[in-house]
Amino acid sequence: TPAEVSVRRPAFAPDPFGEPREAMVQDHIVARGVEDEAVLAAMRRVPRHRFAPEVPPRRAYRDEPQPIGHGQTISQPYIVALMTERLGLEPDDRVLEVGTGSGYQAAILAEIVREVVTLEIIPALATQAAERLDDLGYTNITVLQGDGYYGHPSRAPFDAIIVTAAARHVPPPLVAQLRSGGHMVIPVGQMLWVQNLLLLEKDAAGEISTRNLASVRFVPLTGGH
Ligand code: SAM
Repeated sequence: TPAEVSVRRPAFAPDPFGEPREAMVQDHIVARGVEDEAVLAAMRRVPRHRFAPEVPPRRAYRDEPQPIGHGQTISQPYIVALMTERLGLEPDDRVLEVGTGSGYQAAILAEIVREVVTLEIIPALATQAAERLDDLGYTNITVLQGDGYYGHPSRAPFDAIIVTAAARHVPPPLVAQLRSGGHMVIPVGQMLWVQNLLLLEKDAAGEISTRNLASVRFVPLTGGH
């Protein structure tokens, strides 16, 4: 018998934004080809407006990035859904995210998998995201402040890794921390220009295969590396 997996999802109180949230899912995510039911359910549940307090709540449900302070953004909903789907997640997975930002992507992941570790380089954003996720009731997300280029070796290997800032190259420490058979999704390219959203898969022998999923535009991965 398979091991029982319980992801403790918060019980959200009803909010007045169910309608724009459903429209976001239908018009921008389902309509553009995302099919994974677990991903769609997560996008329908998580109150995105709570992660973008700097804009009017309805604006948070448009298919565009929004400012979250410190020159950073919460990513466009379609890209969040696409990246999450391509990780090929299973309920028992442990996932590493680089670039916590608002914590929204971490919440989407935490709806689907057992455990999420997320790294944010800007201390104030890390603190705010940790408080927000705690307020919302997530118990399976660890927010850590630091340079995500180096990943989090003490909790490796991870079943999946998602990087939500644009790197100039795929960080070798992250490749090392991905388990065999695991997937990584990462935007790679020159800073401030259009980047390639790459899907990496590590096979049983540790070999990496890479596919280009889309052209994207992310804020740069910073840090001293
Ligand atoms: N995933 C976020 C969300 O759901 O709100 C959006 C991420 S935002 C586009 C990119 C984030 O990556 C920013 O918060 C930025 O500070 C962070 N970042 C940039 N370089 C980093 C690094 N080396 N390590 C960790 N976080 C980094």
